[in-house]
Amino acid sequence: RPLQPARPIQRLDEAVVNRIAAGEIIHRPANALKELIENSLDAGADLIKITLKEGGLKLLQIQDNGCGVRPSDLPLLCERFATSKLRDFSDLSKMTTFGFRGEALASISFVSASMSILTKTRNEALAYKAFYSAGEMVPAKPGQSSDPKACAGTDGTTIAAQDLFFNVPQRRRALKSAAEEYNRALDVAAKYALHYGARGVGFVCKKSGSNAADLSTPASPNTKTLDTIRLLHGNAVARELVHLKISQTVSLSFSVEGWISGANWSTKRTTFLCFINDRLVDCPALKRSFESLYSALLPKGGHPWIYVSLKIDPDKVDVNVHPTKREVHFLDEEDIIERICSEAQTVLAGANTSRTFQFTQA
Ligand code: ADP
Ligand code: MG
Repeated sequence: RPLQPARPIQRLDEAVVNRIAAGEIIHRPANALKELIENSLDAGADLIKITLKEGGLKLLQIQDNGCGVRPSDLPLLCERFATSKLRDFSDLSKMTTFGFRGEALASISFVSASMSILTKTRNEALAYKAFYSAGEMVPAKPGQSSDPKACAGTDGTTIAAQDLFFNVPQRRRALKSAAEEYNRALDVAAKYALHYGARGVGFVCKKSGSNAADLSTPASPNTKTLDTIRLLHGNAVARELVHLKISQTVSLSFSVEGWISGANWSTKRTTFLCFINDRLVDCPALKRSFESLYSALLPKGGHPWIYVSLKIDPDKVDVNVHPTKREVHFLDEEDIIERICSEAQTVLAGANTSRTFQFTQA
């Protein structure tokens, strides 16, 4: 190849940097929805209503009854690295909130045509509405002031993003079908609804313009996880599940609780829902271990249904390894996985003999 002369290094301008960074976090509407759900949960909401148009590409709206945003904080809402959750680097080792980097809303504002917030805290008499574009608060219409406008509203926050990826045409083209994006978004909502049902948080998800919700779970402190599973996944699977539980002991720095299908249940694809410290994550190593355990138990080509919730000392978990936080690393990963699968093996073996008894108990 002919040798090219060295080209000068130049700084990218900020708008380019921000849009590239946003693309790493928000790949598709379902990623944006996950961030917004986590914000609502961080805000202490117990009812989260989601409305999507064209799978979230045209409109992605989420309404919660959480703590709201203080009016004076609204100018910073969509600024990158502005957050109410993290102050010092050392806080990273004990995060109890989902968010900490202040990147989600900024990212959404960088890849959407317009973003709005309607929010009211318990202390304010009125709600405030503000609009954002590319990280900044902007007027609702050209020529108007960009200051938040006071208006009537209920406690909590509604965030709406319009025309996702309007300025990232290659991304937009890669996402072909609105139906597919809707299903992925619904899947994220359903996973959080399952995990948070027993924590008293209800979810509703529907298509814009439709009266019927595709997902609706109650906000009630008395909800049992198995009830939510039955509601979302049907009784056919719910009645085949066995309870998996390992309590925290002095020698174990983790605990796990979940529901896993028995030998009588099998489908074409594994359902694997994994939460670590209440965060929905991919844990491919744990999934693989479960699959190999079940391959000995199920007919050829059959796969299990698994929901597990792990609690690990936050000090031992690193959530800051991946832009979407889908991946987390934790200490003693192999040992913990082995311990979980051996416990699963034990309860599954027990389930074969005492099935009827177990299920009437549940
Ligand atoms: P992070 O969650 O990492 O702080 P985000 O960009 O997701 O960053 O949100 C920025 C800030 O906006 C949050 O720190 C929080 O103070 C506020 N916020 C976002 N969504 C909500 C919400 N639904 N209710 C209350 N406050 C919110
Ligand atoms: Mg957040």
